[in-house]
Amino acid sequence: SAKEQGRNNYQFFSEDMNHSILEHLAIEKEITEAIERNQFTLFFQPKISLFDYRTTGVETLIRWQHPDKGIITPDSFIPVAEETGQIIDIGNWVLEQACRQISSLIRKNIMPADAKVAVNLSAKQFTDPKLAEHIRNVLEITGIPPRCLELEITESTLMDDVEAAISIMQEIKTTGVSIAIDDFGTGYSSLSYIKRFPIDVLKVDRSFVMDIPDDKNDMAITAAVIAMAHKLDLNVVAEGVESDEQLQYLRLNNCDEGQGYLFSRPLSLAQLHQYLVIAAERRTNSYEI
Ligand code: C2E
Ligand code: MG
Ligand code: MG
Ligand code: MG
Repeated sequence: SAKEQGRNNYQFFSEDMNHSILEHLAIEKEITEAIERNQFTLFFQPKISLFDYRTTGVETLIRWQHPDKGIITPDSFIPVAEETGQIIDIGNWVLEQACRQISSLIRKNIMPADAKVAVNLSAKQFTDPKLAEHIRNVLEITGIPPRCLELEITESTLMDDVEAAISIMQEIKTTGVSIAIDDFGTGYSSLSYIKRFPIDVLKVDRSFVMDIPDDKNDMAITAAVIAMAHKLDLNVVAEGVESDEQLQYLRLNNCDEGQGYLFSRPLSLAQLHQYLVIAAERRTNSYEI
């Protein structure tokens, strides 16, 4: 009967809910342990100039080295950490460690002195009233020059409360670091806001790059976003570049930089070191990519 079915549905729903709440609590507890036991680690993915193929910087991507489950990528724990507020501790740790590790590569001349390290900021970190103070502190204790640090903030974070976002960004800018708008094209921005944001870089979301050259609409959108960004004096980075055809299309449309598996997967610090040494040798021997 309908009543019986209703009850079954209810039971199913309720079990499902319990399961997800329990799972959620378990993840929260495990994140606390992971912080205490140093199970978080940083990977770095190079960003490449599409004009001369130099490495312009790296994006910091967190990984969780779980004792039983192996390496866990951020999409499966960042949203929980965001909900529980643990993201503040994790995010502060990421910012400090990324600056420490990359500034040591810059000091050793392994990383070009004009390269940048980018760090992703979550929505909760972005609205943390102590953010600017924390950035200043990290710049001071790690000795990284402010021009070498870039913060990536997703378009959807910025669109939550536009007026508040503009004033937070203005405060961040007083520290001298630069700001990139991440995953651009997925956050329902009104274009009239983009010109009011004190940003330096626009990252075209991977979803537009993915289907080049098969999807003519995505190609048109990508070209238009690059042209618009340049008119607004922004640097443009294409995310998720995987094929030579995508690279050629982006170059044809004057995209400044690219990031993706075509150039490099995210690398451990040791792998990044090796990657940069090889890239430098290739340049002195004047080989082309
Ligand atoms: P994101 O900031 O847009 O980072 C780019 C993601 O795309 C990374 O996934 C990267 O590994 C992946 N990727 C790069 N090139 C390619 C490609 O050619 N093809 C494909 N299919 N994927 C590519 P990852 O590392 O799993 O990170 C996912 C998201 O998690 C990031 O998206 C970012 O929003 C978030 N995240 C990562 N690290 C942190 C962090 O330290 N703090 C915060 N708050 N969020 C982070
Ligand atoms: Mg990012
Ligand atoms: Mg992105
Ligand atoms: Mg993305």
